[in-house]
Amino acid sequence: MRDFLASHVRTMPKSGIRDFFAIVSQMKDAVSLGIGEPDFVTPFHIRDVAISALERGHTSYTDNRGLIALRREISKYVAANYGAEYDPETEIITTVGVSEALDAVLRAILNPGDKVIYHEPCYVSYCPSIKLCHAEAIAVETKAEDKFAITIDALRKAWQPGVKALLINFPTNPTGGTASRGLLEEIAKFAVEKDMLVISDEIYSELTFDGDHTSIASIPGMRERTVFLHGFSKAYAMTGFRVGYACGPADIIDGILKIHQYGILCAPIVSQEAAIEALRNGRPAMLEMREKYRERRDFIVRRFNELGLKCHSPRGSFYAFPDITSTGMSSMDFAKGLLAAERVAMVPGTAFGKCGEGFCRASFSTSYANIDEACTRIERYLKTLKR
Ligand code: PLP
Repeated sequence: MRDFLASHVRTMPKSGIRDFFAIVSQMKDAVSLGIGEPDFVTPFHIRDVAISALERGHTSYTDNRGLIALRREISKYVAANYGAEYDPETEIITTVGVSEALDAVLRAILNPGDKVIYHEPCYVSYCPSIKLCHAEAIAVETKAEDKFAITIDALRKAWQPGVKALLINFPTNPTGGTASRGLLEEIAKFAVEKDMLVISDEIYSELTFDGDHTSIASIPGMRERTVFLHGFSKAYAMTGFRVGYACGPADIIDGILKIHQYGILCAPIVSQEAAIEALRNGRPAMLEMREKYRERRDFIVRRFNELGLKCHSPRGSFYAFPDITSTGMSSMDFAKGLLAAERVAMVPGTAFGKCGEGFCRASFSTSYANIDEACTRIERYLKTLKR
């Protein structure tokens, strides 16, 4: 029989994270600092709206773009919190998480052979999603000494003819890197100079601990060349609801709509109703969760540094990204060794791009007690390495 798989799919590696955590889930007594999802259950008032939607028999499709009531709430929320105004009728589309929004925007804009610049270490789906569009993915390395913010020099060096878009994610998964307004202004200027579209994944933006988050969409001249991606998974602990959205110029949102209406049709109605509740009344619960993440961040960063694993304090997200080079091991060997010896799971930095070598990702979206226990075990493991 012939090989039915497309060659670019055959050669694409599976996400390193999931394989790793399939092993962890089989282990008794493992402590996981691995998976990037909140340990909190969705706040009850949001679940209650979902339950009541089902009880009232809300089980149909919705408008392909999503419920207009939800798009209106998104429009208000984005204007109030991100300083960019979008028309709910034509400039907003509701998707199945940021995952679908990202895939759809890339498919909507890329011709085969187009190029996209993105920064690494980054979320595992960026490079494969670009490649699935038969486009070229150009990684720009970010460094610990810059707190994993992208630099304009690195961007300039990476740029080449044929680059159509720049994909950014602040706060960043897995590094917790953020971008100041000043840096975003420089990036914006560069995007205008090179006539690039900016795709901005701001899924962790509410989980900014120090100072304010700025969206590049709010910088003068950028609204018309930015697609703003956001969702409910992280800040509102709604990963299982699978709901997100894209805001941008009407013609690009129309392009996304075509892909979405043929491939997905609409985001689940129950999730959309829950999302309305999150935007209307979810802020107090979100702030409470953020405060917990902040306490855990302070704790885990302090402990890693005490253990000799140099770790910057992430300004946002729920990930710490300690430097493990003092052990003399590769990220993969360190993570595998730690898992085998002490049953503590961290993700090797290389799962997020080659330049993640020398680091591991530790998610602090787990209880204080788990983090404490994990650090005790890591300390024990580090002692065995010194012998
Ligand atoms: N973007 C980033 C940076 C992420 O870290 C994740 C999930 O971990 C996603 C997007 C996907 O989020 P969603 O659940 O909205 O599809």
